Order: sequence, then C-alpha cells, then structure tokens
Amino acid sequence: MKKLSLLGSTGSIGTQTLNVVRRLSRDGGFPVNDAAVKIVALSAHSNIELLEAQAREFEPEVVSVFDESAAKAVKIKLADTNIKVLSGISGLCEAAAWESADTTLNSVTGMIGLRPTLEAISAKKDIALANKETLVAAGALVMAAVKENSVRLLPVDSEHSAIFQCLEGSHDNKLKKILLTASGGPFFGKTPAELEEIKPQDALKHPNWSMGAKITIDSATMMNKGLEVIEAAWLFGVPVEQVEVLVHRESIVHSMVEFADNSVIAQLGVPDMGIPIQYALTYPERFPSPAAELDLTEIGNLTFYKPDYNNFKCLPACIEAGRMGGLAPAMVNGANEEAVRLFLEGRISFAAIGDIAEEMVKRANKRETYALEDVLEADEEARGFARSLI
Ligand code: NDP
Ligand code: MG
Repeated sequence: MKKLSLLGSTGSIGTQTLNVVRRLSRDGGFPVNDAAVKIVALSAHSNIELLEAQAREFEPEVVSVFDESAAKAVKIKLADTNIKVLSGISGLCEAAAWESADTTLNSVTGMIGLRPTLEAISAKKDIALANKETLVAAGALVMAAVKENSVRLLPVDSEHSAIFQCLEGSHDNKLKKILLTASGGPFFGKTPAELEEIKPQDALKHPNWSMGAKITIDSATMMNKGLEVIEAAWLFGVPVEQVEVLVHRESIVHSMVEFADNSVIAQLGVPDMGIPIQYALTYPERFPSPAAELDLTEIGNLTFYKPDYNNFKCLPACIEAGRMGGLAPAMVNGANEEAVRLFLEGRISFAAIGDIAEEMVKRANKRETYALEDVLEADEEARGFARSLI
C-alpha cells in the first residue's frame, strides 16, 4: 500500500487527490489492494475547517498547518485524536519528509513548496509534483537531489503527465520536440485595450479547468504556460528551445512529443485532473477512473494556433528566463507571484502582470550555479522589484 504525505490537501489539486485516494482505497470494482493509498500526512495553510474534516476522515499520523494561530486551533479541534499537529515552514518540511510516507504529493501554491520538496527528496520519498513553481525556480537543485537520492519525480501537471505518458515505450530514442498545448485561457484573441480592462473576477473564470486562484490568473496571462515550458525542460531534459507552445482551445490533446522521424505521439482525454493525479499515484499501473470517456465524434474538431506572444508578455518572458537559466526563472516566477497577489488585491491592472514579468527578465541575475539560499534571495529581490513598480 502506498503511504502518502499530501501537501496542500485543502486546495483544488489536494481535494481532487483525496477523491482519487478515496476511490482507490475504498470503493470496490477493481483490485483495491494493488492501488490502495494510505494518507499519513496532510498539510494546509489555514483552512482549518476542511483540514479537520479531512483529518477525521483519513486519520493521518500528522497534520501540518502553516499559520501558527490556525495550527493552535487545529490542535484543540483534534485533541480527541492521536494526530500530531505541526506548524510553520518547519512543520511543512517535517510533514513532507514524514518517516512512514513513501511518496509526497506537493500541491501547495508557489515558492513556499520548494523547501518541503527538497526535504522530501532528501528523505528518499518519491515526489508527485503539482507545485510547478518549485521546479521553475530551482530546477537544478531539485533535479540534482532527485538523481542523488534515486527517487522518482512524477508529474501531476496534466501536460507533463501527457508528455511522460507519450515517452513511455520510446526506448532510448531522443525527443526532437515537445509540443506543449495551452487552452489559451479566457482572454485568447483579446486586444491590448480589452486586456487593460480586465478585473480579477473576469480572470478568475477559466473556460475548461477549475483551479486555485493563483494558477487561474497564471492561465489567463499565459504565465502558466511559460512556467510549464521551463517545467518541461527540467522534467524531460531538453532545452527550452525544444518546447513549442500550441494554443489548443478544446483542452483535449494534453501535449505531444515529436521524434527524429517526425512521428508525433499525443495523449488525449477529457480535461479532468483526476486522470493525471491518479496516474501519478498508481504509475506504472492504470485503474478505472470516473473521468468521462473521450467521445471525439461529439467534439468534432481539434484546433491549434500559435500563441500571441505580443499581448501575453508573460509567456515570452518565461521562455527568455528559461533560455538564460541560472536564477532568471526564480526571479520571473517570484515577480509574477507578487504581481498576481497585487492584481487580486486590485492594486495593479491585468496588463501590468505581463509588464512586470518582462521588466524582471531584463534585470534578472544571470548567475548560472546556485544554492537554495541564492534562490530564496532572488525570489525576495524579485518580489520587492514587483512591489517597487506600483
Ligand atoms: P489552491 O490555491 O486551490 O490550493 C493551494 C493549497 O496549498 C491549499 O491547500 C493551501 O492551504 C495550501 N497552501 C498554500 N500556502 C501554503 C503554505 N504556506 N503551507 C502549507 N500549505 C499551503 O491551488 P491549486 O490546487 O490550484 O494549485 C496547487 C499547485 O498545483 C500550484 O502550484 C499549481 O500551479 C499546481 N497545479 C494546479 C492545477 C489545478 O488544476 N488546480 C493543475 C496543474 C498544476 P489553504 O487552503 O489552507 O490556504
Ligand atoms: Mg498544466
């Protein structure tokens, strides 16, 4: 039985992961023993009502609550159980590397996920990764730690799960290109004047996927796709130049790979994160899933377009940062995290997010080799830079 530490259990990916775990472990219909998952640790920031309900249902050994006062409240709520309650970044790291866990699924949002990922890897846990910011900001550290500790890094992000699946059975054949698909978000085709008018409530509506606020804004600005280009480069060992972004409005082809003979392999399915989450937990086996069957005759047409690099500046900013390497991706990621926060607080315009990313790349630190402290410093500097522009 897989023993899972789930970071960010109260979020969009976290709750969907628990749906998968519930089905794999309890609902009948397929060989439960092979696929069952036991939750040993749960972590959240401050949503204590939901965390308490999850703790009572899944009975982990430990829960970690980032916010100190929320952690105190959880301790009181769970006083009638044997569940240990931790707090702060140290609690998050301890839960990530929890002794009885064999796998850690990291679905917290943003750079805060970096230390827990590294701690879990050092403790020889396999990593199922949704927290893409971690890999973007410190890919060299994460990939080196994965290699050194001989653990598995399994993608949860739907595009990267697709690429991973397309590469299964490719033997030693080298990838020529990754074709990374993008829904284009809710503002595909909008003019700069229209983009200027966008308010947080407009950007928080995604046409195909239901996700947390930060990634929903990143999808609207196409920052998400930029982060995913860098994420793909690290996961599959290719330069960013070999990752081509294609806008695919239907979100049915989740990504493709091209080989030397120009043969292209694609992975398709309805847009349902349950599929990649489940595959990351049951890899290399597959089990039935409640996701809808793909009916291509109902969909009829699959369309593909080139992205609009002029109006969606976050995408070229990330590609440039990925090309530069070193701390540039950490800086563009940090500046974006801050810009998204400022936009959601109504303090900057939607278009300003792209301007901040573009400016950040121009000033990014080009140092190639780095340690964890350098990444955290670069992140802080980038956040300060974003704030200085308002
Ligand atoms: P949500 O905002 O829905 O959830 C974030 C989760 O992280 C919550 O459980 C939150 O806790 C927790 N969290 C935030 N900060 C901390 C902290 N400091 N310590 C501990 N826990 C913390 O985000 P999503 O689930 O949408 O996204 C999570 C990650 O997965 C992101 O990196 C995103 O890019 C990636 N991803 C998401 C996809 C999706 O479909 N949603 C698809 C592919 C990737 P609390 O509820 O208490 O605030
Ligand atoms: Mg994705």
